[in-house]
Order: sequence, then structure tokens, then C-alpha cells
Amino acid sequence: MENISVIGAGTMGNGIAHVFAQHGFMVKLCDVNAQALERGVATITKNLDRQIKKELITAEEKVEILDRITTHTSLEKGVEATELVVEAASENFEIKAGIFKKLDELTSKEVILATNTSSISITKIAAQTNRPEKVIGMHFMNPVPIMSLIEVIKGFDTSEATLQTILTVAQKIGKTPVPANDKPGFVANKILMPMLNEAIHTLNEGTAGVEEIDQIMKLGMAHPMGPLQLADFIGLDVCLSIMKVLQEGYGESKYAPSTLLVNMVNAGHLGMKTQKGFYSWDGPKAIAVSERFN
Ligand code: NAD
Repeated sequence: MENISVIGAGTMGNGIAHVFAQHGFMVKLCDVNAQALERGVATITKNLDRQIKKELITAEEKVEILDRITTHTSLEKGVEATELVVEAASENFEIKAGIFKKLDELTSKEVILATNTSSISITKIAAQTNRPEKVIGMHFMNPVPIMSLIEVIKGFDTSEATLQTILTVAQKIGKTPVPANDKPGFVANKILMPMLNEAIHTLNEGTAGVEEIDQIMKLGMAHPMGPLQLADFIGLDVCLSIMKVLQEGYGESKYAPSTLLVNMVNAGHLGMKTQKGFYSWDGPKAIAVSERFN
């Protein structure tokens, strides 16, 4: 396998394109938005420069890696002669359903169609195609060039051959794949998101402020980042949509999203991507916002 396509050039898509190209794959990076493609390539370039500084790659390798990536606004061109598709478009079932229907028409029937969804059922996405045995979850972690895990999710009809191929591909790009079954939130977000939501409840209840909650979890539990900072980093809209998937999927009140999380998303305070969340991100350093929550 040499030719892969990545659909969506946002936070995750550009990172996925980066690691595949770094490990010798020819990558077609596709997005409906030409500016997202430009931003994606600019981010890859910036991250490659960081890798040069850390002496992980050479300047010549940077040029070779960038040469292996082409960008496309047309899905048809973007999946021409592809051998594997990794979809990393927006976390919205209708968008993903539309993409998978088209991928099923445009690619040859041997091609595996993987999705990087954080929470949407792989089985439901697979049912949009005529090859559910070849649809699988490849849940990369953010930031993709740094995090070693790929949670590999088997849908109801995903074949063992598809699973084995994806486990091998994940190792070829220097990642550690860990399999899981298709249940709401899979493993990573089933455990992580309720913890982030609980930190938001704790803030809302006035038990402690933003910095105190994050410090307690960092220093006391040896977490590299506090839960509120991590929620800002992931995106509060993404956190809310995953909590809704858990709430709907398990039907238990313990998964109800915090009213503060709902309010912040409604107000457009989505964390790092809008520069406003539990921290303000518009300066050189993130500053905890305190007064608003008391
Ligand atoms: P993002 O909003 O940064 O990027 C999504 C991109 O998809 C945008 O550039 C958008 O233009 C593009 N897009 C939308 N519709 C499209 C279409 N029909 N065809 C092609 N491109 C299209 O989102 P993101 O944070 O990169 O998330 C992408 C996926 O990865 C989601 O499924 C998300 O749940 C998952 N994910 C996100 C994180 C995270 O920390 N952000 C972590 C793991 C998994």
C-alpha cells in the first residue's frame, strides 16, 4: 500500500496526512474548503520545522515529505487510484454519511474506508456503503504527529482481514494501534469525556476556580494537562457533541452535559479555536478566566 487519501484538512486531517507522508506514503489531502487545505499545509510545514529543530528529521526530509502531499478540493480527484481512505471531516453524521456514500461509488471495492470519528458509530457509517466489512474506525489522538495511540474500532460487520490490515498500517506509520469495539465513545472518550464534564460541573458548583481544578489534577494525578485546559484544547463543541452521544447511547443521566458547557458552546466560547474558553488564548500564554464562573 503506497497511496492514501485523507478527507478533511482540519486539526486532525493535516496531522494524519503529515504522519503518513513522513512514513513514505503518497498522500492526497482533500477538503471542500480551499483555505482549509492552505492552512493544513501551513500547519504541516510549521510542525515539520519543529521536528527539524528537535533533530527528528532533516531539512531534506522535510522537502521530501511535503512533496509526497498533494491537495484537492475535488473528492473524485482526491481518491483517484487510492488504496486507503482515512476520513477526518467535521464530526457530523450527515456530512460523514454523504462522504462515505460518495467514497463507495468512487473507489474500487477493495479499498478500506477508515474514519477518524471521535464518537459516531462505525456501524452506522459503514451502513452507508456496500462494503461494511471494509469500514473501520482509526481514531488518532491530537496532536497526531506526537501522540502514539490509534484506537482501532471494529464495526459490527468489519472483517478480521480489514482489522489486521489497519493494525499493520498503523505500525508502519510509527503508531501503536489498540483495538476496541463499536460502543458509544469507544474506550478513550467513554472514560475521558465524563472526567472533563465532571471538572466543568465542579467549576460550575464553585468548588474551585479554573487554575485550581487544573492544578489539582496535574499535580495530584500526574496528568500532563488539566481537564479544563484539555477541554479547551479539544474544542468545547466537540466535548459537548461527544457527551450527547454518550447520553443518548447509554441513556444514563450521569452523561448529561454540564449546563456551563452547554452555555459556553451556545455563546461561541469553544476553547482554543475561538481563543475563548476556560482560558483566553489570544496572547502568547493561555490565561485562566476566573471571574465569569463565580
Ligand atoms: P476540523 O473542524 O478542524 O476539520 C474538519 C475539516 O473537514 C474542515 O476543514 C472542513 O472544511 C472539512 N470538511 C467538512 N465537510 C467536508 C466534506 N464533505 N469533504 C471534505 N472535507 C470536509 O475538525 P477536526 O477537529 O480535525 O475533527 C475531524 C474529525 O476527527 C472529527 O470526526 C473529530 O471527531 C475527529 N477527532 C477530533 C479530535 C480533536 O481533538 N479535534 C481528536 C480525535 C478525533
